[in-house]
Amino acid sequence: MKHAPRPNGYRDAWCGQLTAERSGTAARVSGWVHRRRDHGGLIFIDLRDRSGIVQLVFHPETTPEAHVQAHKLRSEDVLSAAGTVARRDPENVNPNLATGEVELAVTQLEILADADTPPFPLEDASGVDESLRLRHRALDLRRAPMQERIAARHRVIATMREVLNARDFLEIETPYLTRSTPEGARDYLVPARIQPGSVYALPQSPQLFKQLLMVAGFERYYQIARCFRDEDTRADRQPEFTQLDVEMAFVEEDDVLECMEAVMEAVFAREGFAVPPPPWPRMTFAEAVSRFGIDRPDTRFGLELKDLSEPLGQSRFQVFSGALAAGGVIRGINAGARELPRSELDALTELAKQHGAKGLVWAFVQEDRALRSPIAKFLSEPEVAAVIERLEASPGDLLLIVADELTTVGQTLSALRMELGRRFGLIPRERHDILWVVEFPAFFWDEGAQRWDAAHHPFTAPTGDLDDPGSLTSRAYDLVLDGAEIGGGSVRIHRRDVQQRVFELLGIGPEEAQARFGFLLDALRYGAPPHGGIAMGLDRIVAALTRADSIREVIAFPKAASGADPLTGAPAPVDPAQLRELGLRSL
Ligand code: ASP
Repeated sequence: MKHAPRPNGYRDAWCGQLTAERSGTAARVSGWVHRRRDHGGLIFIDLRDRSGIVQLVFHPETTPEAHVQAHKLRSEDVLSAAGTVARRDPENVNPNLATGEVELAVTQLEILADADTPPFPLEDASGVDESLRLRHRALDLRRAPMQERIAARHRVIATMREVLNARDFLEIETPYLTRSTPEGARDYLVPARIQPGSVYALPQSPQLFKQLLMVAGFERYYQIARCFRDEDTRADRQPEFTQLDVEMAFVEEDDVLECMEAVMEAVFAREGFAVPPPPWPRMTFAEAVSRFGIDRPDTRFGLELKDLSEPLGQSRFQVFSGALAAGGVIRGINAGARELPRSELDALTELAKQHGAKGLVWAFVQEDRALRSPIAKFLSEPEVAAVIERLEASPGDLLLIVADELTTVGQTLSALRMELGRRFGLIPRERHDILWVVEFPAFFWDEGAQRWDAAHHPFTAPTGDLDDPGSLTSRAYDLVLDGAEIGGGSVRIHRRDVQQRVFELLGIGPEEAQARFGFLLDALRYGAPPHGGIAMGLDRIVAALTRADSIREVIAFPKAASGADPLTGAPAPVDPAQLRELGLRSL
């Protein structure tokens, strides 16, 4: 810590500041008992505050009173201790500690609070049940790795602010109690007491407000914004999460991308995270999906997808020809020379099924360039030769092939590719790949609802002919780090007529559009500048930078994976009187 504490009755220095230069001086420190050791009549306490750890020593002869008190100390007790900074004997120097050359010979000790035995060891919480950690979050957050992650989160936010402030952005807050914004998820609703039967929605993002801020002439806006999305719990989602939300007026894609590259480059540099310098590569959605099966490709390793529809489309193997006849595709990956036992091939088939595929075809290339595979007998020689050629296969290689509808094939092979990458250690740990994915399709046909749906959100500007929705691309972009989407945004529609046509296309009639988004449509009437923006997922970024397994590790008070909060017990029932006031009845 850079700023020494103002001397008071508790302390005049941080624990971590008591280094060798301070030896011989008096100091007072405060903190938590990290560890206590009794040794040859002496009592040693490792005292911890946010800055680090310093060793306190209590001598029975010179300071009997403090020594007696120190006898009572237990882990996590809180104390204030004054004494003299003394050099340790050479054999007791701890080179792993900033304060390892000294100790504080305590003359005066004040115990400020005692602590019960913690419900889990703070030293190593690796095997501890997560709900227990969340239930006692204040204790969990005391642990060094958590302190470091939360501090990293702070630094990331501070760096983002510094770069954007230097570029004339204004930080502006937008409301939390608002009306539904469509980002494709369910809203959290807050019943309104003043208008029984009506609700506020918590924002899924500040999207419409930031667009209004552009109409208002603020030119450059950002916000560290909390967003709320009521999605079915998935492994690493939180009902509320934080975005760096940005919007700029009179910009094209390149302006937003360049600005965000400057922000993220500064963040990565400050955290010592090695990504290649910008400008970062751009890959079209079409290329990402055809090479990696997914729109957030992890490009750190090969095993790319290859199309086999043409050589296998007429195959006697019904699954192949059937998939193609039904408008699907056949794709495969060459997993390289690996001998997998049947049980593991079955496990890969199971994984394929979990991703919606009906099955997985596996084949080993033999020395004579024939295939060893359950379906080998259905394939002609030219078909086998073409597969081997397309997959650039050599004897010994394992080939994995999926035939299905396009999205299913992509998802399945992408999941298999990641699984094999992890299993065979193909993903370099110290290398990071970052890239933009661009030129997304604007709309996709929702078979169930029998209507077009926006791939990003309905405010994203499309390119192309609005009369042919399937052919439109959108002016959207995603930033992908090591296979994770860490940000996304778009150039927006700034013309009212275009916005109205897009609403129509999405099946939102004029009345509904006016009721839900009238405030945006009205604002577009009075001179809206061309504008665009982006939102960066702060939780995911910090998790990547700190190599945390889950975003819950970088949020001070997250919900559990189930969406519930073991700390406060939320969500919780309320008093019937409170419900009555809101015009609600419990079920
Ligand atoms: N509102 C979008 C989101 O939250 C981001 C953006 O378009 O700027 O994903």
